[in-house]
Amino acid sequence: MDEQVNMSKERNQDQDQSDIGAQDVVGKKLAIHRCSIHPSSDLSIFCRECNKLICPVCLTQEHQQHMMCDVETIHHEKLTILANKDHTITNEFIPFFTEENSKLDKILVTHQEHCEKMKLIIEEQDRKLKEEITKQTNALLQTFDNYLHTTINEEIKTENPNLRTNYLF
Ligand SMILES: [Zn+2]
Ligand SMILES: [Zn+2]
Repeated sequence: MDEQVNMSKERNQDQDQSDIGAQDVVGKKLAIHRCSIHPSSDLSIFCRECNKLICPVCLTQEHQQHMMCDVETIHHEKLTILANKDHTITNEFIPFFTEENSKLDKILVTHQEHCEKMKLIIEEQDRKLKEEITKQTNALLQTFDNYLHTTINEEIKTENPNLRTNYLF
């Protein structure tokens, strides 16, 4: 713990003002990694053209003509880019998607209301049609009853005059 605090103090004294933001975010010294090609050297330089960390030996071999910067600078730049993206997400994308989401919710509610209305109309139509069928069925039954009575009466009267007498017994 103490060691880390001391390191921060030392770093703060040496630090360029432009690096303060980066340190605020990270809160501790950047980790140092060894070069995979030259394991005895640290990756202490950032090659902007190759977009990667290199060691001093790499620099002398392949990157002499490339644009470079130190690790702290690129770290700060990338943190700034991330902070801008975060700002854009928080202030533009999230409000946009929240609003779109609420529009979709409203559309969904309207759609559900429409569906409920349609269901009521269909049920009402079903009720009317059933009523109409019952009315038609009753009318047919009535007609059939009338026909039966008339026919039986006619038969009794015309074809078999004794039937009424027999039937009444
Ligand atoms: Zn190297
Ligand atoms: Zn390079």
